[in-house]
Amino acid sequence: MEKIEELTREVCEELIRPKEKDIEENGLYIPETLSKLGELGFFGVSFPREYGGVGLTFEEALKSSIILSSYTSTISMIIGAHQLASLSIFLFGSDTLKQKYLSQLNKGRLIGAFSLTEPHAGSDPSSIKTTAFLNGDYYILNGTKAFVTNAGLANLYVIFAKTNPESGARGISAFVVEGDSEGLAVGHKEEKMALPYLPNAALVLKDVKVPKENLIGRANLGFIVAMKTLELGRILTSAGAVGLMERALHESIKYAKERTQGGQPISNYQIIQSYLAEMKTLLETSREIVLTAARKKDSNSPDLGLYSSIAKYYATKSAVDVTRLATQIFGGYGYVKGYTVERLYREAKMYEIVEGTNEIQKLIIANNILKG
Ligand SMILES: Cc1cc2nc3c(=O)[nH]c(=O)nc-3n(C[C@H](O)[C@H](O)[C@H](O)COP(=O)(O)OP(=O)(O)OC[C@H]3O[C@@H](n4cnc5c(N)ncnc54)[C@H](O)[C@@H]3O)c2cc1C
Repeated sequence: MEKIEELTREVCEELIRPKEKDIEENGLYIPETLSKLGELGFFGVSFPREYGGVGLTFEEALKSSIILSSYTSTISMIIGAHQLASLSIFLFGSDTLKQKYLSQLNKGRLIGAFSLTEPHAGSDPSSIKTTAFLNGDYYILNGTKAFVTNAGLANLYVIFAKTNPESGARGISAFVVEGDSEGLAVGHKEEKMALPYLPNAALVLKDVKVPKENLIGRANLGFIVAMKTLELGRILTSAGAVGLMERALHESIKYAKERTQGGQPISNYQIIQSYLAEMKTLLETSREIVLTAARKKDSNSPDLGLYSSIAKYYATKSAVDVTRLATQIFGGYGYVKGYTVERLYREAKMYEIVEGTNEIQKLIIANNILKG
């Protein structure tokens, strides 16, 4: 297991460290870095070898994701969003869909995206309005999706639409839609608080013809596809938050030892030590809960959903706390562009919102402990 961590670190040192600022701040080198990471197996670490994956456990894959995220949030988010598409197909797709798309996705030859949210349907996906009606051998999709990570970059979208608009959650189906399908267009691009080169945009669907065999699982059971995929996606998101904290702590320790005030390094001051201790505690407790959630997946535990929400809530909230303390340790420089911790603080906020807000995670946790 240590091998995957060592290997990930070696790859990140070579491929990402020298280009980090260019990737994060100027949007350079992203396609070529993705393609090299794809060749090396980073897109399908936990998927079986028969589908082009590396065949590691989810726990091992998560350890690798934590390291990758400590080097780059943009690339790690692109791969995370991509994996939501691969996971939907892997968990619920027919053999034909798996054979056709999974190996390509796991080798990074196709980039995936997962499109559930709509302008008026975020936390309540049962109210989506995009429709899909069967016409002969094709479903015809119409509607507008929002906030799609990888929109425009992806060549394969997993899109959720209502096959029975009269029903709520029970009227949703999931489809594989190829990026070059006629009638599919990338709409409004969001300008975000952080991650300027992570693509996030609307998708506009006008009479998009999707072969009926591209239905993932059964008609009207798409809500389950989304929820089961997101259970795993939330653990991946939490791993991203852990990587971010690891980086913020590393930068803070280095700065606290270097920066002198009052004739001594600020690391000599107990208040700074207290901040560092708090950061380390939040980092390590988050890591443990994220790996616990991953082990729930590896052991097919019925508690997977509960632990995935606990990990998402705790690790992403901790990432905001840790990066806030990091900027405080940097004093005025923590507020200045070009200092890594300033960027990390803004990036951390995203993790509390995506893949179900932290309020929704608390609802899931509460529902789990109150049931029965
Ligand atoms: C950077 C980024 C990337 C994203 N990538 C994707 C993607 O790839 N695919 C995709 O489908 N979506 C994506 N999203 C969308 C994301 O999943 C939604 O933004 C999120 O689910 C929240 O939905 P919303 O923005 O509509 O907020 P709303 O649902 O309108 O929520 C507003 C506030 O109300 C709270 N709230 C809502 N309902 C309840 C409730 N029942 N109880 C208590 N509080 C509640 C929320 O927690 C929040 O605080 C992305 C978003 C961002 C910012």
